[in-house]
Amino acid sequence: MVPAAPAMVGIACEEVPGHPDFVGLGDIDGIAVDLRYASHNNFFGKDLYAFLDCAWLHQDAARALQAAATALKAVRPDLQLLVLDAMRPQRVQQMLWDVLHGTNLRQYVGSPERGSVHSFGMAVDITLADADGQEFDMGSHFDEMSERSHPDLETQLLAQGVLTNEHVGRRDLLRSVMFHAGFGGISNEWWHFDCGSPQDIRSRYQRIL
Ligand SMILES: [Zn+2]
Repeated sequence: MVPAAPAMVGIACEEVPGHPDFVGLGDIDGIAVDLRYASHNNFFGKDLYAFLDCAWLHQDAARALQAAATALKAVRPDLQLLVLDAMRPQRVQQMLWDVLHGTNLRQYVGSPERGSVHSFGMAVDITLADADGQEFDMGSHFDEMSERSHPDLETQLLAQGVLTNEHVGRRDLLRSVMFHAGFGGISNEWWHFDCGSPQDIRSRYQRIL
């Protein structure tokens, strides 16, 4: 008989509201919020969060996001950051992973076993919007699982005319304020930022289940 895997240790998503380590996105000044996985407007075409309240970040990421919003305001007071995803519970990460089984798209979804940085409340998916919250064209959509979304291919995509100078300029502005605040980017999604090293986050923070 195969022994059962040990139960995963962490904090239930339902216990996050009111937990002292977490901050609601509504308490961060100068950002707009449109959680795409809490709507049908996403790659999967489903409301993946349903009754779960996922508008939260660990306080360390919330503090950094506040710094990024302030940095953007200093250089472009006419713009704001628009948060597209923040804390993503382990159970939803597992669902995304399962849906992409058998496809070559799993590079865009962190393995649930290792843990997405979103599942520690330490990552955000984010874009730039105008004062009314209207997002800008960044050259590919949030969640677009194609090479057009890869920051490490931007020079090539620009040369090929797939991306314009405006697209890359907007991505550069987004990166500059996020990096300034202590976030790091990844090679294949222009919208995704981790608040610190993923290895360090996985070893020091609790997972939201
Ligand atoms: Zn992400």
